Amino acid sequence: MQEAREVRTTCPYCGVGCGVLAEVAADGTTTVRGDPDHPANFGKLCSKGSALGETLGLEGRLLRPEIGGRQASWDEALDLVAEKFSQAVAEHGPDSVAFYVSGQLLTEDYYVANKLMKGFIGSGNIDTNSRLCMASSVAGHRRAFGEDLVPGVYEDFERTDLIVLTGSNTAWCHPVLYQRMLAARKERGTRIVVIDPRRTATADECDLHLALDPGTDVLLFNGLLAHLAHTGKTDAGFIRDHTAGFDAAASLAAADAPSVARVAKGCGLAAADVHAFYDLFAETERTVTVYSQGVNQSAHGTDKVNAIVNCHLATGRIGRPGMGPFSVTGQPNAMGGREVGGLANQLAAHMDFGDEANIDRVSRFWNAPNVARRGGLKAVDMFQAVADGRVKALWVMGTNPAVSMPDASRVRAALSKCDFVAVSDVTRTDTTRYADVLLPAAAWGEKDGTVTNSERRLSRQRPFLPPPGEAKADWRIICEVAARMGFGEAFAYRTPAAIFREHAALSAFENDGKRLFDLGGVADLSDEDYSAFVPRHWPASERGGHQTRLFSDGRFPTQDGRARFVPVRQEATAFTVDADYPLALNTGRLRDQWHTMTRTGNVPRLMANAPEPAVDLHPADAAAHQLKDGDLAHLSTRFGFVRARVRVADAQRRGQAFMPMHWSGQFAARAAAGLLSSPVTDPHSGQPELKHVPARIAREEAGWAGVLITRRDLRPTGFVHWSRHAVEGGWIYELTGTEPPDQGILLARKLLGAQRRDQLLEYTDRRGLAYRAAAIDEGGAMAEALLVAAPDQLPMRDWLVSLLATRQPLSATDRHALLSGRSPVPMPAIGRVVCACFHVGANQLASAVAAGCDSLEAIGSTLRAGTNCGSCRSEIRAIIDARRVQAAE
Ligand code: SF4
Repeated sequence: MQEAREVRTTCPYCGVGCGVLAEVAADGTTTVRGDPDHPANFGKLCSKGSALGETLGLEGRLLRPEIGGRQASWDEALDLVAEKFSQAVAEHGPDSVAFYVSGQLLTEDYYVANKLMKGFIGSGNIDTNSRLCMASSVAGHRRAFGEDLVPGVYEDFERTDLIVLTGSNTAWCHPVLYQRMLAARKERGTRIVVIDPRRTATADECDLHLALDPGTDVLLFNGLLAHLAHTGKTDAGFIRDHTAGFDAAASLAAADAPSVARVAKGCGLAAADVHAFYDLFAETERTVTVYSQGVNQSAHGTDKVNAIVNCHLATGRIGRPGMGPFSVTGQPNAMGGREVGGLANQLAAHMDFGDEANIDRVSRFWNAPNVARRGGLKAVDMFQAVADGRVKALWVMGTNPAVSMPDASRVRAALSKCDFVAVSDVTRTDTTRYADVLLPAAAWGEKDGTVTNSERRLSRQRPFLPPPGEAKADWRIICEVAARMGFGEAFAYRTPAAIFREHAALSAFENDGKRLFDLGGVADLSDEDYSAFVPRHWPASERGGHQTRLFSDGRFPTQDGRARFVPVRQEATAFTVDADYPLALNTGRLRDQWHTMTRTGNVPRLMANAPEPAVDLHPADAAAHQLKDGDLAHLSTRFGFVRARVRVADAQRRGQAFMPMHWSGQFAARAAAGLLSSPVTDPHSGQPELKHVPARIAREEAGWAGVLITRRDLRPTGFVHWSRHAVEGGWIYELTGTEPPDQGILLARKLLGAQRRDQLLEYTDRRGLAYRAAAIDEGGAMAEALLVAAPDQLPMRDWLVSLLATRQPLSATDRHALLSGRSPVPMPAIGRVVCACFHVGANQLASAVAAGCDSLEAIGSTLRAGTNCGSCRSEIRAIIDARRVQAAE
């Protein structure tokens, strides 16, 4: 028997890049905890990270290569991919092929994918789903600093007096960073301003919330720049010595935002709030402005980034402790992808196509005479080229564009038309349906390489499990295809360490300080050093030391060493609502979910907080559309439609709606936000506008509702609406139909597994309007239960779920109760789960508050809720506040 061992690795979810200790017990079970020595998280993990040990099962894993839906050998599959790509290049040229890759790839995977496409196939056509995440920050950084550089480090959040969170629901999307910010607030009184059209969990704990109109951020920050200039709060010495272009930027800002009143009107804010923000910023030397997808995912995202950066340059608040603009990335290795050149408009190692010397340098380093000479297709353009036949062969790696791309219906149509699609992934997804060749990739826990987080800190992802079946590391799959295409010599890596050394060496090659991205100090790591690699920032200096904050000497990697002010003006938003589409729809993340739920969707406790796809509406909008909480709604834009439950939310602004971006066809009939989003992109970054599209909503008249609780993993067809969520021991399927109930019963019964009659308990009411059935397994336990009734007439599920989980033989009383649809003993429902870490529900919290627990601390010591990752604290506070209001009334 093997001994227990502990492996130091990194969380595969968000750009915080938390360190994780994975302990594999002698019996093979794995538990995870935060790594107390990792400088990103010091032992903390959020709900998603804490549940990583529950995502290691093999359900849904791709275990063998497939060609056209049949199992194939690796040789067959790789030969076919190489043949199709080579054939397309030979017949139609290098730009007829493309890779669409992912911020989930490790840096070593990314490096070889980029080298193959740009160096040896000779096309720029490799782009990444990071295009949807932070491409506007990349473009903004390059315009201002001359290179894609995040100046600050996480420690700045603890050394600052003001944090401006703009377009960032940090409490849910970067929870461990948010907890660090709150700790600083408690410690030193750091103030927090939240700029977001929605009142998110982040806004619940701030000093000032500016709920600006969608897309008006440039106006707000131009107003700030004008205010700083007008009130003499700029740093004239810094502007003179270290920047260029201040006058042009300041005069355009002043013309764009001539007064606070004009800004307030244009942004839909109270003038007093705008004043308060401007004064706070002007008076607080140590200010960090954090921005994320709310800024980036916009038709004017790059201008928004530069409007923010302009204010920091004007005040000289950059490169010093506790100050600076700070882009936080969504994905675990978005930064690593930026480093290797995984964006179509970058060549490699922070070198672009704009300079012939870069092309020559990379060509010589790679010994690649056929290196691409111009940038390739960015994500939205790439799928357009697939649709119109310019791209004949596409390889999708570790991402799910059929769900996550805007105007997803068009993307699906493009994939189905494409001559050849290869997909390498860990599980089946909506995208793998379109694959001619499926390549099973290694997953987290099996992969070996490096990632870079939002503060430029490199960490190792280390394997602690063998890849199951025939799954392989992405870098190995790519190199084997490269070899079959005739490039074996350049891709003859034996280990990820060898790839890392080459990547580091390229960053330093003929660099001479011109590019701050320089890993030269770690280019000679031995395999042992790579194995023992401790987290470190780049640029890595010569002998393994490392620098942290950038620009502390006031020098920027531009030709003259000066940062650039970029004059920007508030452009009209890409869309305006109208009578046909009167709601402004925003999309974003849920607290406990990651991307298209391929991992987190299988974990019961992560599904418990938001188990069904829902659209948030302000109470007045819900009333205006004759909708109430829980109704099934048909939500549409000019690009498509979805169905989702209505969630009436006071926090939602009137006239706006919010839909999470996670739901896919694996978890609901039709609820992918990508079906609604617009493919309009930012002209500089190519990043699509995912935060704002006009929408309309109507009630879907339901004739019946059903719930199937089962051990089986199904994808129902023929239903107007279904969604599913994981529970202990299986799944719950929520079903809704527009047919009359008797037809609904017939339809739903088809979902029951093939059962012997003696194993099926059934009851249909006399009028044929309600139906209940339970399938009993060989051991006498409930294998599944189906209940159908009129909408709103279904019983609570808690007891049925407990029967599924326990797998105990049913008593006669249980069998009787199953058919009556009621628990034989009163079973208090815990309500919607609020604390995912300790599985505490809203009803339990409300009872504890009623019993006198009137603070977060009291709740924490009674129920433990809110004491681990902290992501649920704002919801707990809302329950406490609601009770206070009730008591006062
Ligand atoms: S904050 Fe959560 S999701 Fe992000 S890296 Fe840390 S544990 Fe993972």
